[in-house]
Amino acid sequence: MLAVSLLTGAILLSAGACGAGGGETSAGGRPEVVAAIYPLQWLSEQVAGPDAKVIGLTAPGVEPHDLELGAYQVAELDDAALTVYVKGVQPAVDEAVTEDRAFDAATAVKTIPAGEHAEEGDEHEVSYDPHLWLDPSRLAAVATALGDRLAAADPAHAQGYRERAARTAAELRALDQEFAKGLENCASRTVVTAHEAFGYLADRYRLKQIGITLDPETEPSPARIDEVARLARAEKVNTIFTESLVSPKVAEVLAKEVGAKTGVLDPLETRPGGGDYLSAMRANLTALRSALGCT
Ligand SMILES: [Zn+2]
Repeated sequence: MLAVSLLTGAILLSAGACGAGGGETSAGGRPEVVAAIYPLQWLSEQVAGPDAKVIGLTAPGVEPHDLELGAYQVAELDDAALTVYVKGVQPAVDEAVTEDRAFDAATAVKTIPAGEHAEEGDEHEVSYDPHLWLDPSRLAAVATALGDRLAAADPAHAQGYRERAARTAAELRALDQEFAKGLENCASRTVVTAHEAFGYLADRYRLKQIGITLDPETEPSPARIDEVARLARAEKVNTIFTESLVSPKVAEVLAKEVGAKTGVLDPLETRPGGGDYLSAMRANLTALRSALGCT
């Protein structure tokens, strides 16, 4: 008993000695925010500004649905003042987060049901479609909610978080307007994608998504490919979209079968090769306008 209290006293003393010199910016310094996937990392960086340190959990080029957490990453989650994630994207993260220090972006928006074409082994384990960042207007709502959460976690810098959140939300609403205008008058409204990740984009801008598979790692069945080919022909689809992280093979086979070309839509599950969320979304808009014949 005595030994324990002596030890505790010694730790308190040494902590006090450290703190005395460091003042407000002692060892901990800025709070740490861990962002589970790239779009939330981008968003967190905008809202955190200089007041918090943002750490991305998924390394560039890694398919985030497959993320496994090492001891180092679990420690990062333990240390974080806030973990920003979308429940249902990464089961490993869903399991590791502590609820009172985590912000699930899906709680800030109206979700849509998961796609119907889940193949066996699909990792999306929630009833809604988790790819909500592909609708800029929903991401704007997430920005505002994130500003409030960071303000609560770090009250000394609340005003900064709220101001930057408002500015980021305004940028995202401007992007939303670009999409709405750019996709207003189009010859076709059907988008065929290899990875069924664009449900929110389709929902927001009145497009129809035909996804080949929900899980970019799973080979679709020949029956599913035949079905999509039939739909694509019926809708006179001229572009089959694939993405940079997965093999374009399925999209190429399908494109050949229906006499279409392939194009790239970035689901932004990882940091784009160049630029950021905003520039990658603008590239998506350009690709969609070209494929759909929008004026
Ligand atoms: Zn996905």
